[in-house]
Amino acid sequence: MEKVLHFIDGKFVESANGRTFDNVNPATGEVIGVVAEGGPAEVDAAVAAARRAFKTWGKTSAAERAAILHRIAQRIDENLETLALLETMDTGKPLTLSKTLDIPRSAYNFRFFADFVKGLSTETFEMEGVALNYALRRPVGVAGLISPWNLPLFLLTWKVAPCLAAGNTCVIKPAELTPMTATKLAEICQQAGLPDGVLNVVHGFGPDAAGSALTEHPDVDLISLTGETTTGKAVMRAAAGTLKRLSFELGGKNPNIIFADADLEDALETTIRSSFVNQGEVCLCGSRIYVERPLYGTFVERLVERAKQLVVGDPMHPDTNVGALVSEEHLERVRGFVERAVAQGGRILLGGKRPAHLLRGAFFEPTIIVDVDSSCEITRQEVFGPVVTVQPFDTEEEVIELANDTNYGLSATIWTTNLKRAHRVAGELEAGVIWINTWFLRDLRTPFGGMKESGIGREGGVHSFEFFSELKNVCVKL
Ligand code: NAD
Repeated sequence: MEKVLHFIDGKFVESANGRTFDNVNPATGEVIGVVAEGGPAEVDAAVAAARRAFKTWGKTSAAERAAILHRIAQRIDENLETLALLETMDTGKPLTLSKTLDIPRSAYNFRFFADFVKGLSTETFEMEGVALNYALRRPVGVAGLISPWNLPLFLLTWKVAPCLAAGNTCVIKPAELTPMTATKLAEICQQAGLPDGVLNVVHGFGPDAAGSALTEHPDVDLISLTGETTTGKAVMRAAAGTLKRLSFELGGKNPNIIFADADLEDALETTIRSSFVNQGEVCLCGSRIYVERPLYGTFVERLVERAKQLVVGDPMHPDTNVGALVSEEHLERVRGFVERAVAQGGRILLGGKRPAHLLRGAFFEPTIIVDVDSSCEITRQEVFGPVVTVQPFDTEEEVIELANDTNYGLSATIWTTNLKRAHRVAGELEAGVIWINTWFLRDLRTPFGGMKESGIGREGGVHSFEFFSELKNVCVKL
C-alpha cells in the first residue's frame, strides 16, 4: 500500500491540498509509503457523506445490517494474510500475533455485534390500568471513531461493528502511525455491500488537524476514542462546544498482584505475556507487579530467567516474541522513562536498552526494574512499552492500597488460590476490568472500560449499544 488514501462517500481520494506524510515501518526504519494528510476539508466531506447515508442506513432493519456485517467478517477472514502483513508493517508487532490475535478478533467483532443486535430488547413498564410505557431503540446519527496504533484493526472494529450494527454511520480517524488496515477495511466493507457514505476514513494527525476537526464538527453526534488520557481530556474539551456523546477507553497502569499461594507456573507464564506481549504496548498490560514477600525472591529470579528467553527481533520471523516498538520517537519516550527510573533509585535486572544484535529498527529489550516505590514516576505513569516494575508486599491491605494509588483504573490481575481472598480483593480494587488467575480473557458480552482517568463508559455487549443508540420512551394511556 504505497499510497494510503482517504475513503469518502465510497471513493478513495487524495487530500484536497495534496498533502501527504510518510509511513515508516518501525522494524526497518524504511519509508514504505505515503499517507494522505487530511484536515477540516476532508472531515467536512466525510461527515456530509455520513449524514446523507444515515437517512437510509438508519432505517434499515437489524437483520439487513447484520447480514452485511457477517459478509464483512467473512472478507476479513479471506484477507487474513494481507491484513496481518499490513498490520505488522505498520506497528512492528510479530506477524504471528497479527495472524492469531489482531485480525481474527477483528472478524469476530463483526460477527459478535451482528448476532447481538438481532437479540436486543428494550424495556416496558406498565402502570396498571393507567398507561403502558415502552422504549424504542434508534440509532444516534454520525459517529466519529478515533483509534490508537497499538491494536489498530482490532480496537477500531470494536467500535465500527456496534456503531454500524446499531444503524449509525461513521467517520473513522485511524492513528497516524498505523493507517493501512483501516483503509483496507474500507475496501472490504464496500465489497461486502456496505452502502457508500456509511463508513468513511480520514487520515491525518490529532490536535489542530483531522482529529480535532472531527471532535469539533457540529454535525457529528458521538465520539468514541481509544487513546491516551491526555487525548481524552483534549477531546472532551473540544466536544463540549457541540455537546457530543462521548465514550473513552484511555490509558492504564495496571497492577498484577501475586500472592504467595498462587500457582507459580501459571502466574509466571501469564505474567510474561501480560508484561511483554505486543512489546508491552497493550493498555491492559500489568506493568506494576506486586509479589507477596515469601515468594518475591523466587518470583523475580524466575521472571528474569524466563524473560531472557524471549526472542526480540524481526517481526516477520515465526520465532519472534517481541517485535519493534511503533516508532523511534516512542522508543525514546520509553527509554526516557527507564533512565529516570534509574535516577530515582530503580535497579535494572534485565534489559533497559536496545538489543545489541539488532542494528536498525525501534527495538527495546524486555525490561524488569526493582527497588522502586510509589513515589517513582515509573510506577505512576503509563510507559506503554516492554517495561515492568516488581515490588514486594506484606499484607492484603497494603497491596490494595498500593494498587489503588494511581490516577488510572483500567484493569487489575490477582493471583491466589484462596477464593475468599480473590473475591475480597477484587471487590476493593479500583479498576473496571479484573482478572483472577488469568489475563486478557475477554467475553465480548461483558462490560469493558476504565474507572478514574482510564475512561468513560463501557464497551461490549449491550453496553456498546447503550452508547450507539437512543432510547425513546413511548407512553400510551390505556
Ligand atoms: P493517542 O491518544 O496519542 O492517539 C489516539 C488517537 O487519537 C489517534 O488517532 C490520534 O491521532 C488521535 N488524537 C490525538 N490527539 C487528538 C486530539 N487532540 N483530537 C482528536 N484526536 C486526537 O494514543 P496512542 O498513542 O495512539 O495509543 C496509546 C494510548 O492508547 C495509550 O495510552 C493506551 O493505554 C491507550 N489505549 C487504551 C485502550 C483501552 O481500551 N483503554 C486500548 C488501547 C490503547
